[in-house]
Amino acid sequence: MSIVVKNGRVIDPASETSAKLDVLIEGDRIGRIAENLQGEETIDATGCVVCPGFVDIHVHFREPGFESKENIATGSRAAAHGGFTSVVTMPNTNPPIDNGGMVELHNRSARETACIKVWPAAAATKGREGAEMTEMADLKSAGAVAITDDGSDIPSSWVMRRVLEYANMVGLTYLSHAEDHTLMEDGAMNEGFNSTRLGLPGMPKAMEEIAIDRVIRLAELAGARVHICHVSSEGGVDIVRRAKGRGLPVTCETAPHYWTLTDDAIERFGPNAKMNPPLREFGDVQAIKAGLADGTIDCIATDHAPHTVTEKNVEFQLAPFGIIGLETSLALGIMGLVKQGVVTLERLVDLMTRRPARILGLPAGELREGGPADIAVFDPAAEWTVEPDAFASKGRNTPFAGMHLRGLVKTTICDGVIVYQA
Ligand SMILES: [Zn+2]
Repeated sequence: MSIVVKNGRVIDPASETSAKLDVLIEGDRIGRIAENLQGEETIDATGCVVCPGFVDIHVHFREPGFESKENIATGSRAAAHGGFTSVVTMPNTNPPIDNGGMVELHNRSARETACIKVWPAAAATKGREGAEMTEMADLKSAGAVAITDDGSDIPSSWVMRRVLEYANMVGLTYLSHAEDHTLMEDGAMNEGFNSTRLGLPGMPKAMEEIAIDRVIRLAELAGARVHICHVSSEGGVDIVRRAKGRGLPVTCETAPHYWTLTDDAIERFGPNAKMNPPLREFGDVQAIKAGLADGTIDCIATDHAPHTVTEKNVEFQLAPFGIIGLETSLALGIMGLVKQGVVTLERLVDLMTRRPARILGLPAGELREGGPADIAVFDPAAEWTVEPDAFASKGRNTPFAGMHLRGLVKTTICDGVIVYQA
C-alpha cells in the first residue's frame, strides 16, 4: 500500500528542505521525497505544509488513575488532531510511573489504544515524594525516555544532585519542573499587580528563577544534562541564556500560553487560565518570544493538562492547575510567533519537530527516505474558531475557546497510517 502526499510545501528542518515536493509513503516508511511522485492513494496537499509529525515532550494523559480527565486513547487522538505523532507523557499518574512494571503497563496500553507514539517519562523519585531515587536503569530498560517528578520539584538539593548523576549515567535526561514551592505554598496565580487587585495569593517569579538556577548549578556539579520544563518568566529565560553562554548542556521548553496570554486573562477566563507555572506579565511574554527567536528556548511543548469540567468549575483558588494544549498549539504558534515575525514558519516547525525529538533522542521529528512515515499536513492560512466541544481530548479546559485562529491541521499520518483527517 502506497500513499503520495502531493503538491504541498515540504518543510523538513533536519534536511533544510522548504520546497514544493511530493512525499511517497510505502507501508510504514517514507519511500521518496521528490517531484512528481505517484502512489496508489493520493492526498492533495495544495496550499498546505507537509512536515514531520509534531513532537510534544510534555503531556499529561492521566493514565492510570485519572481517566475521567483523559486516557492514553483520547489523549493520543487529541494529539493526532493537533498534528502530533510523538508525545512524552509525564509520570504524575496514580500510582505514579516510578518502576519498570508501571512503564511496561503504560507501554502496553499505548500499543493497544494509542493512534500515535506515546513515550513515557518515569518518575525521578519513588512515589514522586522527593526522597528516594527510582531504579533508573530498570526504568530505561522498560522503555522510559526521560526522568522527572513533573508536577512538583525535588525539594532536596542532595537528592536532586544524585538524580542528575544517575539519570546521566543511564543516559536519560532529567526534565526539571523548576519551582521553589517553599516560597509560596498556596499560590494560585502570578504575584503582581493583578494578584493584588484580585485578592488572590501570588506565585512570585522568583519561585521559578531560584529553582532554574539551582537545578542548573546542580547539573553542572553532577556533570549532567538537564532540560527545564515550561519556562514562563523573563528571569527564567535569562538564567538559561547565561548557562548556555557558559557552554552548559542545558535545554528548555515553553508552552503556547506563555507567549499568547498574560495574567490579565484570569479575570476573563477564570480557572481555565490557571496553570503552573502561572501566566505572567507583558515583559515575560516578550522575553519568551525573544528566547524562541534567539534559540535560548529549544522547543515548544504544550504541557497538555486535562481536567474535568466539574473540577475546573469552582472558585479560582480551589481549581486544579493546567490547561489542554495539543489541539491549539500549531495555530497559536502561527498566530503569536510566525505572523508577528518572531520566527519563520520553518523555524516554528523545527521547534515542534526535530528540536524536541533531539532533546530526548526520540526517533522522530524528521522526514527521511527510509525513516518512519510520521507526517503532519496543515494549511497555515486556514481560519477556524476554537470550539472545545470539537476537541478529541476529554478536556475542555482551555482559555482559547471562541478565539479565531489561523493554521489548521488537515491530515496526520503515523507509521504510514492516516490517524487524523479533517
Ligand atoms: Zn510541570
